[in-house]
Amino acid sequence: AKSAGGNRFETADAEADARAITRHGLTNALPAALERGEFFIEYQPLVDLGDGSVHGAEALVRWSHPQHGVLGPDRFIPLAEHTGLIVPLGRWVLEESVRQATAWQEKHGDRADGGPLRINVNLSPTQLHHPGLVADTAEVLERAGLEPGALCLEVTESALIGADDDLLKPLRQLAEMGVDIALDDFGTGYSNLANLRRMPVSVLKLDRAFTLGMQQSPPDPVDVKIVEGIVSLAHSLDLAVTVEGVETGVQAEQLRELGCDTAQGWYYARPGPPERVLAGVLGSSSP
Ligand code: C2E
Ligand code: CA
Ligand code: CA
Ligand code: CA
Repeated sequence: AKSAGGNRFETADAEADARAITRHGLTNALPAALERGEFFIEYQPLVDLGDGSVHGAEALVRWSHPQHGVLGPDRFIPLAEHTGLIVPLGRWVLEESVRQATAWQEKHGDRADGGPLRINVNLSPTQLHHPGLVADTAEVLERAGLEPGALCLEVTESALIGADDDLLKPLRQLAEMGVDIALDDFGTGYSNLANLRRMPVSVLKLDRAFTLGMQQSPPDPVDVKIVEGIVSLAHSLDLAVTVEGVETGVQAEQLRELGCDTAQGWYYARPGPPERVLAGVLGSSSP
């Protein structure tokens, strides 16, 4: 029994070692990968629940690794965050997706309701603490010629827990420039709802966990109550509600009935190349 246990532990150790080696290897490879252009961005449409039109898209970064194939952000963003490489990587994502948004506007013009096609970009906590954030963002927008109102920066709720004025100041400055700030993964961070009032946030992105209960018909009654409450709170504070992880039509319909404003998920489109977002916009021609 002892040796079996020993073997088990050895295996577990070996797996842990392999994971650590991969982590270590990936971490070391990050700077060169950025230089060599191994990162690319997929875009996932954000759909207006009112009329079904494409409202914009979220930029989601991937790493085309020469040995490991395409790696999702969960595999390398935490590593980049840990080493600080997230700052240049995040700046590249911002530059590239803002450039893309400008290209969409040149090809397509404004949305049916007159507003620009919007681009959502994720910001990590380290980027939030980086002193160059506001100036960098202003410069990127200016250089691409994109109006600040077409950009939405997504910050996770957990990154803002206990946020003091030093952390909120750059977000306020961005909001004053006209950039939208979204609270990402809302509902997972146990934030103080009263705190929402002092945050320069204009969008709540409701975490997928809350929308899972709407996949079934009839929907989970507790989830319905929770979403109802969040939507009414958000709207009373003048915040828009985006729901993520919408996988079925039943779910989309229920979330629309509950008053959510925009939705994102596999039901509409998986993350994909930029042309596909525009195809969705042009395809959903209104009467
Ligand atoms: P997130 O910001 O919450 O992004 C949503 C994630 O849900 C994405 O995973 C997306 O592909 C996935 N998703 C979309 N629709 C559905 C659906 O219907 N069902 C399910 N099950 N999943 C869906 P992804 O692309 O793997 O990204 C994971 C996380 O990595 C993101 O979570 C975000 O926190 C982070 N991330 C991605 N790109 C960037 C980036 O450029 N910078 C930073 N700092 N973080 C990023
Ligand atoms: Ca996000
Ligand atoms: Ca999210
Ligand atoms: Ca998430």
